[in-house]
Amino acid sequence: MKKKISITQIIRHIIQLGAFLLFPGMFISIFMAIRNLYTAAIGVSTYQNQWLLILAVFPITILLGRFFCGYLCAFGAMGDLLWWISSKIIKKPIRVNEKVDCILKYLKYVVLALIVIFAWTLAIPMDSTYSPWNVFGMYSTLSGWSSLKALFSVGGLLLLLIIIGCFLIERFFCRYLCPLGAIFAMVSRFRLHRIKKPGDECGACRMCTGKCSMGIPLYKEDRVNSSECINCYRCVDACPRKNVTSALPPVVLGTAVALGMAGIYYVSTLSLPTENKDGVSGPGTITENTDSLSDIINSNNYQDGVYTGTGSGFRGDIAVEVTVEGGQITAITVVSSNDDKQFFDRAKSSIISDIISNQSVEVDAVSGATFSSNGIIEAVANALDISYTNPNSESPKRGHGNKGKGGQK
Ligand code: SF4
Ligand code: SF4
Ligand code: SF4
Repeated sequence: MKKKISITQIIRHIIQLGAFLLFPGMFISIFMAIRNLYTAAIGVSTYQNQWLLILAVFPITILLGRFFCGYLCAFGAMGDLLWWISSKIIKKPIRVNEKVDCILKYLKYVVLALIVIFAWTLAIPMDSTYSPWNVFGMYSTLSGWSSLKALFSVGGLLLLLIIIGCFLIERFFCRYLCPLGAIFAMVSRFRLHRIKKPGDECGACRMCTGKCSMGIPLYKEDRVNSSECINCYRCVDACPRKNVTSALPPVVLGTAVALGMAGIYYVSTLSLPTENKDGVSGPGTITENTDSLSDIINSNNYQDGVYTGTGSGFRGDIAVEVTVEGGQITAITVVSSNDDKQFFDRAKSSIISDIISNQSVEVDAVSGATFSSNGIIEAVANALDISYTNPNSESPKRGHGNKGKGGQK
């Protein structure tokens, strides 16, 4: 007989869909906020105020567990969707051997350690398209599909492998590779809220274990102690004896916690007038030339004309055309961008008018749209051959725009 989907799962999937549409980059923002705290702590960067982003998820994860992973993460939602599609096609799903699964789960700590050492501590510059997360972010909105370039990158290839993995093994990326999942697993280890499953009330069916999204061997435990648990409550729904229980009804707890986290995240990214609301470090730095733009334009002998340049935005490159007339910038036109419209439009009007009126790229990023702001500033600097370090990519992009490719357009 076909089992009906529970109200808990219906609401969970609705919240997952809403989070995917409204906050597809939330997991990247949270990870960046942790990176910025870490790099500030070890003195690699200056302190960035991103406490609201941290507060949006960590206190709840520490106290109650990984609701973010079960309800709000777009990447996790993609994993659930792929697994659902797979279950319709592959009738006998792959079951990873319990011991192998247990060992592979340590891989994500290795991934996290490599990122912390090489990208965060040693600050080795990496192109944003090396990250499968970034490539996923670029294509999680319709506007991202205007260019397919990032699909043919290292990150695009990794994303393809992850998609295949998620198709074959439930929550493949979450279980084995996710560095943010590794952090959540560490902080949720001592959580207060644990699902109960008293063994003496149990049969030998192991249906709860078979349904666990994260492959936790529930049959061994009287309560869910594993830090892999993402509070999806599929084990609660699976038990025919109603022997798997939560202190508060899952539908109430899951909904309240997810909406609470989403609300704080919304406030931290869109409403408060603080710096760095989209989870990225603050304005970049001009590393060489600090003259006014007109000085730079004149000293570099720019002729009147249009110069093109690119910078790294939230979802890949932003391309601009910079018009120079009489030794001044008179216009900046955005040629292409994959950033979310809500963020990009806020950045665009303010940054462009600030650069033109100040005749300088030393302008403040727009709160709530720092990724896009820094990307536009970098693109203008790039067009005019000014060395600029964009905190989005952490690698200075030396100007090469149209000028380096043989003159004006
Ligand atoms: S483990 Fe990582 S990818 Fe999976 S849901 Fe959690 S944060 Fe998202
Ligand atoms: S133990 Fe239950 S709530 Fe936790 S991940 Fe497994 S199925 Fe989901
Ligand atoms: S599904 Fe229920 S009865 Fe079966 S093993 Fe799990 S808790 Fe026990």
